[in-house]
Amino acid sequence: MCTFPLFLFDYLTICDKIKLKYNIMNSNYLDSKDVEFEGGIKMTEEKMVLPLLPLRGMLVFPGMIINLDVGRERSIKSVDTAMGQNRKILLVAQREAAVLEPDSNDLYSYGVVAEIKQLLKLPNGALRILVEGTSRARIEKIYEENDAFFEAEYVEVESIVEADNEIEALKRMLIETFEQWILTSKKINSEVLLTFKDQPNPSKIADMVAGYLTIELDEKESVLEAIDVKARMNLLYGYLCKELEIANIEKNITTQVRKQIEQNQREYYLREQMKAINKELGEGDDRQSEVDEYKSKMAELDLPQDVVEKINKELDRLAKMPPMMAESAVIRNYLDVLLSLPWNKFTEDNFDLKLAKKILNKDHYGLDKVKERILEYLAVRALKKQIKGPILCLVGPPGVGKTSLARSIASAINRKFTRMSLGGVRDEAEIRGHRRTYIGAMPGRIIHGIQTAGCSNPVFLLDEVDKMSADFRGDPASALLEVLDPEQNNSFSDHYIEFPFDLSNVFWIVTANTLDTIPLPLLDRMEVIQLTSYTDDEKIKIAELHLIPKEREMHGLSESTITFTRDAIYHIIRDYTRESGVRNMERKIADICRKAAHRHVTEKIKCVRINANNLYKYLGPAIFIEDDLTARAEVGICTGLAWTSVGGEVLKVEVAATFGKGGLQLTGQLGDVMKESAQAGYTYIRSRAKELGLSENFYETKDVHIHLPEGGIRKDGPSAGITMVTAVVSALTGRKVRAGVAMTGEITLSGRVLPVGGIKEKMLAANRYRIKEVILPKLNLKDLEELPKNVRNAIKFIPVEHMDEVLKLALED
Ligand code: ADP
Repeated sequence: MCTFPLFLFDYLTICDKIKLKYNIMNSNYLDSKDVEFEGGIKMTEEKMVLPLLPLRGMLVFPGMIINLDVGRERSIKSVDTAMGQNRKILLVAQREAAVLEPDSNDLYSYGVVAEIKQLLKLPNGALRILVEGTSRARIEKIYEENDAFFEAEYVEVESIVEADNEIEALKRMLIETFEQWILTSKKINSEVLLTFKDQPNPSKIADMVAGYLTIELDEKESVLEAIDVKARMNLLYGYLCKELEIANIEKNITTQVRKQIEQNQREYYLREQMKAINKELGEGDDRQSEVDEYKSKMAELDLPQDVVEKINKELDRLAKMPPMMAESAVIRNYLDVLLSLPWNKFTEDNFDLKLAKKILNKDHYGLDKVKERILEYLAVRALKKQIKGPILCLVGPPGVGKTSLARSIASAINRKFTRMSLGGVRDEAEIRGHRRTYIGAMPGRIIHGIQTAGCSNPVFLLDEVDKMSADFRGDPASALLEVLDPEQNNSFSDHYIEFPFDLSNVFWIVTANTLDTIPLPLLDRMEVIQLTSYTDDEKIKIAELHLIPKEREMHGLSESTITFTRDAIYHIIRDYTRESGVRNMERKIADICRKAAHRHVTEKIKCVRINANNLYKYLGPAIFIEDDLTARAEVGICTGLAWTSVGGEVLKVEVAATFGKGGLQLTGQLGDVMKESAQAGYTYIRSRAKELGLSENFYETKDVHIHLPEGGIRKDGPSAGITMVTAVVSALTGRKVRAGVAMTGEITLSGRVLPVGGIKEKMLAANRYRIKEVILPKLNLKDLEELPKNVRNAIKFIPVEHMDEVLKLALED
């Protein structure tokens, strides 16, 4: 082979910088043609013909040695032909690897002349050849007519190298970046770099780099076609930088993945170790089985997604914790609470009003108006299922059946019942719970109540809402407001459980003895139903129809083993209880039943009969001796009627007038309003001294002391005004207060008598004490209509407008 390399730069700028090379050894020498160049230099471009081997999905560069498997029939023929000639073959890449029978359009226009170094026949008829690329070749023409194999006419082209600093710089950059790529990608052995060190030829270096790079076939072809080495290197450098970046990203991803795997393996290893240690310590796999148990419990429940995530987090913490650690008990406790809450659990409502009425009537005697109100309320709820508020508020003295009504409502509409007493609650945390950071933290009582009910829509009774108070630990009323407010309570947040809980489906019932102490914003959201004291007749009926049968059954007795005469019941009411409701009576009946049961068992008595005469044997001596308020007329003692949160009361006002300097003393735990009322009354007496038969300056020589007995109980309000004035006038004048008269009414400085509240309760109390005459403000007459008929008939009501009338009526001459 004879070659004469020529560097024709002028020509190259014009003709794609092609440098031609002549191969006179080739037997398939076709023709030669003189080419004229601008610079006047002449050269001959010879075209040669060689068998062609199409390559699929790859490309061979000059200088590259590589094994190729040849399987297609035409390709095998090409190889065979080449072997029969001078072992030279043209390697040209296919544009699409998938094409099985390519034609000239499917092949790139540049290829490589290669020498077959070795040939191996494979058992399946295919060939494996070892080839070495020798030079670039531009394909001029492909002889497709030849069916047996491809042959192509080509021109060998040689790279152009301008030996300047730029190419040197490019060379260095290329090698350096390639080195980085090898080290980063780790795709090929770094020893390859050694061959670069000894290679001075930039063209070869570029070809080697291109051969190793894992770039697209198109990109490789463009490198092959770049005859100018500088251009080739520039092109390659671009591809190389891109590959380096990809390799870097790949490396980062692999590092992350590896780190994750390593972390998982580490954790697994440590856990296994911990298991082994626990086993050695005799603690076995308890921890894991505990975690599994929680998980299976969790799977059975319909928990909100965020709760599930939280539980999983806590379980992870629990699993890693030594069992003896205090913190693990806290976590366990927390998980128990979360899992025991009735998330998304509801009972089906039954708003059958007939049934509701039946149940209310079965459980309670009387209370007709109250029952009617409750049924109306239920009817609205039945029509409008998603009703928002209001909350039912049952107000009345103790023992009148508020709690048991709430219980009946629950069973009437088929809901679970739960209750919480707010009496004495001062701490907001009792309602909202403590944060878990506190030792011994627990959920609040609302969540606790829901937990006990076991469903998210129980009837929830908040007892004694009027007894709640606030102190430095926060205001429970504001927390309660959030509980009861239909706009907020669908996401009530308890400090302990840390998740909003939906309370909007709860049927809230609140009870109170008085409305006075209920915070206004709370009261605003309530539908108030008032319950009043029972009369003796009602109490007897309640005892006969409800309390006695109930207690009998609870004590294993029956109608044939214990009987109560009506007289006995009456005496229980009169001598042993004297209350607004029936709670104490129920207790007394229970006492009797217990003792009767004892006698049954020990003395074998068949039937215990309770009557007025033997009552003391079971209940001891009477607690309330008939304090006959009607018995005697006395000086300085007057009977008043008071209203308290536990019902009406009869109270005596005692006054003593002694020699002194005109002082007015008030004792018996009187509130400010009552004190002021007494002072106003005293001023009225001074202003009427003459009419009352007193000396005009009586107050200069007398001290007046007003005392309201049962000094331990706080009393307040203006309604004892006329009572106090009557007693003072009686004490000062020595005129007796008539026996059997009680009174209530507020007094003004001028002596007018103003109306007062709680008339119904006061009259019921007067009736309890068998008072026959009551003086009351005229404007209160209308309130008497609420009284049961028997009470109205038993008492003579005397309406008054002025204090003068009162004194006339109450004092003896
Ligand atoms: P409160 O909650 O108003 O203080 P409770 O509901 O605890 O009163 O009532 C005390 C007891 O009296 C209960 O056993 C209740 O069943 C009974 N009771 C009260 N009123 C009636 C009534 N009208 N009929 C039947 N039982 C009654």
